[in-house]
Amino acid sequence: MPFASLGLSPVLVRAVNERHYTEPTAIQAAAIPAILQGRDVLGAAQTGSGKTAAFALPILQRYLAQGRETPRRVQALILVPTRELAAQVGETLRGLAQYLPQPLKVAVLFGGVSINPQMMGLRGGADMVVATPGRLLDLIEHNALRLSTVSTLVLDEADRLLDLGFADELARILALLPQQRQNLLFSATFPADVHALVEHLLRDPIRVEMASTPETQPDIVQRAIEVAADKRTQLLRHLVQAHPTERMLVFVASKYAVELVVHKLCKAGIHAGPFHGELSQGTRTLVLSEFKAHRLQVVVATDVAARGLDIRQLPVVVNYDLPRSPVDYLHRIGRTGRAGESGLAISFVPPESEAHFRLIEKRQNLRVPRERIEGFEPTQASAVTASLTDPDSNGGIKGKRKSKKDKLREAAARGI
Ligand code: AMP
Repeated sequence: MPFASLGLSPVLVRAVNERHYTEPTAIQAAAIPAILQGRDVLGAAQTGSGKTAAFALPILQRYLAQGRETPRRVQALILVPTRELAAQVGETLRGLAQYLPQPLKVAVLFGGVSINPQMMGLRGGADMVVATPGRLLDLIEHNALRLSTVSTLVLDEADRLLDLGFADELARILALLPQQRQNLLFSATFPADVHALVEHLLRDPIRVEMASTPETQPDIVQRAIEVAADKRTQLLRHLVQAHPTERMLVFVASKYAVELVVHKLCKAGIHAGPFHGELSQGTRTLVLSEFKAHRLQVVVATDVAARGLDIRQLPVVVNYDLPRSPVDYLHRIGRTGRAGESGLAISFVPPESEAHFRLIEKRQNLRVPRERIEGFEPTQASAVTASLTDPDSNGGIKGKRKSKKDKLREAAARGI
């Protein structure tokens, strides 16, 4: 089915063609006509499903029909959980709007950088705002913008917005919006708090829920390599050197581990960069653009990079450390195999993480065969140590494992 048959204007279809989108993805085919009809939409969007264009195109079509207001007033507000996603959505909107007869002004607002340039950028108003909730509220408090003219609200990655503790900010923002508006909510998962938000926010929504069929599942091959914990860096180096032309996104558990692994890879002559929440926004942007431009072969990241990042042609994701939460496993591996490309996700499974990986498999209904690579296998001794180190371990599932505080409380109760 061509894009033109969805009822989109030729200027939008031209921009879509220029991006080499040959036909709408499943979520686009389902969501675009519903949004054009003015309906509220609830989208269960797989990672890499094309959901940004699914809401961006009809929003731009409405802008085209309504015409630009003078002075500019915010017509659409898109709330996102992270700075990176804000930048990506802003870029997509501007790219798809490039042939509109009236130039579109999109303000992209996020924290972690100085507020002043964003305030300056809002002078003269904006037609659309893409923002993280905290910085948006700051700017409203500075009287830099108002939301009373918003006709379309998008909550992108709603589960992540709530995960990151933005519930209060969301409630404050919703109270500033006009009652009469269209609401679009996209989420990869639907835990209870997202359901509650859906109930509160959406009026008679059209549900665009993609069944998990092989067609909508990204094409990702999953591998699990049993490895001694202290040989993981060597194994990573081995994999990188065995695939010198492929870029890899490597997930580790902490900022400290990011720096350590990057240091070791660089020492081995591999172009590697760090990505975690304590780096400045400038460094994060630079590392990403170097990675996208193929000047870095490896980026080592914490879970900050697990959601929202969109890097085309990223063939390999490596779980150097397994994620604590099984849901994050899906988000991490979803960084590869995007938009119909195929991808490879490799998890390192030292003996001490075997129980945890089994839990991830169980929760996600997966079975990934274990492999060993000669020279990196766990030794008998490390397997025995693993079984002895944490007898009450449940595999580290978030919320289930005893926290340090729980253990201290138990010790106190036992009078230790
Ligand atoms: P998203 O799910 O919005 O993060 O999009 C994932 C990737 O798919 C982005 O790189 C988009 O540029 C790309 N994309 C979006 N729509 C299409 C389409 N219809 N055909 C091919 N690629 C697309």
